[in-house]
Amino acid sequence: MQTGRLIVLTGPSGVGKGTLLRLLLKKHPELYLSVSATTRQPRLGEVEGKNYYFVSRDQFEQLVAAQELLEWAEYAGNYYGTPSLPVKEKIACGQSVILEIEVLGARQIHKTFPNALRIFIEPPSLAELEWRIRSRGKDQEEAIAQRLQTAKVELEAADEFDVKIVNDDLEKALLGIDNAIFCP
Ligand code: 5GP
Repeated sequence: MQTGRLIVLTGPSGVGKGTLLRLLLKKHPELYLSVSATTRQPRLGEVEGKNYYFVSRDQFEQLVAAQELLEWAEYAGNYYGTPSLPVKEKIACGQSVILEIEVLGARQIHKTFPNALRIFIEPPSLAELEWRIRSRGKDQEEAIAQRLQTAKVELEAADEFDVKIVNDDLEKALLGIDNAIFCP
């Protein structure tokens, strides 16, 4: 049996990774979306086990110590990580798996899964990114400032990735991702 592929979608917070991912999964329900563990508090409407596994810092540190995470990173004061087992099981069964993660984690994946396809989503500009982060109204001012600061550093890493896609038009960006995965 052919194994599945690992696909990593990365880029700064607010760039539209989540929206693009939802559209991609609608078009390709055969892809398996990995659910991450995080120490961040759930936002309104977020569901345990669907958006994230919401865990305490202690629980997260136990997952790290037990080597149960494929990658993990601290982002804007919280931990985020990918549970290893479901990803490995799906890939072994021939299903392709997609991760939506930040840049530090995406770098780690390059070491453990060198054949993973890593796609970096860029904003049209930093000003547009700031506008998007502010207008979604999900974060407090301190968190927004932290996310913007991190975004600047993350954008400098864009050239490390296999494919770069500018999200200035949702349909066009979706097509770019689709082509990168299915018509390489
Ligand atoms: P948010 O708090 O907005 O849900 O996510 C913050 C950032 O963490 C986003 O860039 C998101 O892609 C990233 N993220 C989500 N899950 C993971 C994960 O498992 N590992 C890593 N490294 N980053 C993640």
